[in-house]
Amino acid sequence: MNNHVTVLEIDGKSLEHNLNYFKQKLKPETKILAVVKATGYGSDAVKVAKFLQDKVDYFAVAFAVEGINLRKGGIKTPILVLHPQTQTLQSIIDYKLEPNLYNFKVFDAFLKLADDTLLMNYPIHIKFNTGLNRLGFWHTDIPKILADLKETNHVKVQSLFSHLAASEDLEEKDFTINQINNFTYIAQQFYKYLDYRPMLHVLNTSGVVNYAEAQFDMVRIGIGLYGFGNDEKVTSQLKNTHNLYSIISQIHFIEPGETVGYNRAFIAKKLIKSATIPIGHADGITRALGNKKGYVLINNQKAKIIGNVCMDMIMVDVTKIDCNEGDKVIIFNSQEMIQNIADIAETIVYETLTSISQRVKKVLKK
Ligand SMILES: *Cc1c(COP(=O)(O)O)cnc(C)c1O
Repeated sequence: MNNHVTVLEIDGKSLEHNLNYFKQKLKPETKILAVVKATGYGSDAVKVAKFLQDKVDYFAVAFAVEGINLRKGGIKTPILVLHPQTQTLQSIIDYKLEPNLYNFKVFDAFLKLADDTLLMNYPIHIKFNTGLNRLGFWHTDIPKILADLKETNHVKVQSLFSHLAASEDLEEKDFTINQINNFTYIAQQFYKYLDYRPMLHVLNTSGVVNYAEAQFDMVRIGIGLYGFGNDEKVTSQLKNTHNLYSIISQIHFIEPGETVGYNRAFIAKKLIKSATIPIGHADGITRALGNKKGYVLINNQKAKIIGNVCMDMIMVDVTKIDCNEGDKVIIFNSQEMIQNIADIAETIVYETLTSISQRVKKVLKK
């Protein structure tokens, strides 16, 4: 049991709202895969998956260990493991996870394992590289893959998929359409030679927003579920899911000339009142927010972070705020606040969300 007072509250109603926003952009028969990798984008993958399991068709995680955690948490929905390694294939089978096979090293190893352990029609997914150049077979690998598949009934291709490199960037529209066309060509080769039809999927959140015509059989939604559309207009129609709260541990009065925190980075020019809050860079509060770059909300007022962000604490200026030890502190509770943190850290909201650490208590509010 985690009894930390710093809590990430995951808003179930917002998750559902966001899911419905994307559903309404899709054909009713298009399947939804909810991406819950990286602890559900910094939240709690099991809690999010439990909440979404009746509302989506699939889950995806990056690594086998994440899928195992979902199974141990009681999730029965199919789970695609996007990035398995040969070392994790046996555990993938043990926990009825579905591997993405992206090169011959993993593909051959899985087919051998399936053969050795006499699996029947075990669902696998095959990924093709159409331009991201990260993970996936090349189209010239198709003949060998098809030849290997013909020889076995131990596995069955549940889906063929690819991933877009710049679905959020309309200046890269030609590139993206080319990726989609290449993927369509690859799928046609499989459809020609297999006597069954694997599902096809290529769109992530921004893909659904910008290229809904390429929804095929399923879409893979990550950041959109968590309230961000990589586009201000879309984000404004989504609801915030990640609310990070803490409390004031202690209040100090700092005399002129006194300093606050490590390296004495903040020097009081006049008498100020500071509040110490039990959240630091080990909880995911980047040091970039220190020295008045970032702020928190206390009793609806902005309190700037003074001095350096410590591992377990921040100190904020509450000189003008009527507040007491034990009062609630909002680290963020809106997309604007999260985007502001990402901007200050010169990063993207994906990183801001996934930085929220294990130590923070996670609760899901239905
Ligand atoms: C992370 C990931 C997604 C989700 O992307 P979002 O932009 O968060 O929607 C989809 N597909 C793959 C292969 C991914 O790695």
